[in-house]
Amino acid sequence: MTATLSEAGLTGTATSVSYRTLTERQKDVFHRALKAAAEATNVWHIKDIHEFTAAALDIDLPHNDELVECSCEGCPDGCDAIAPLTLCAEYLDGDTQRPQCPACADAHRITSD
Ligand SMILES: [Zn+2]
Ligand SMILES: [Zn+2]
Repeated sequence: MTATLSEAGLTGTATSVSYRTLTERQKDVFHRALKAAAEATNVWHIKDIHEFTAAALDIDLPHNDELVECSCEGCPDGCDAIAPLTLCAEYLDGDTQRPQCPACADAHRITSD
């Protein structure tokens, strides 16, 4: 029997984490990583940064994916989930594409006008 995705899901990694549940060290890593990714000009370098950050945050990040912070406007106290971009829904806020995490997209998906 070959390994399946569901078996990988038993390793304890999550597909998203809430920012406020991170340790101070993880928050620090996350901020420094986002800054490094924003300043990086090489796309493979950026992917690496996201992959290392996901490992530090214990998030199960699909290969070549990126971590994003949920920018849902539908949550009463603001969502602070960090999730892989490909699992997020995206909506248009003016000209800007903003990600909505899987939980938010399920509960109250924002659709662009
Ligand atoms: Zn969310
Ligand atoms: Zn939400």
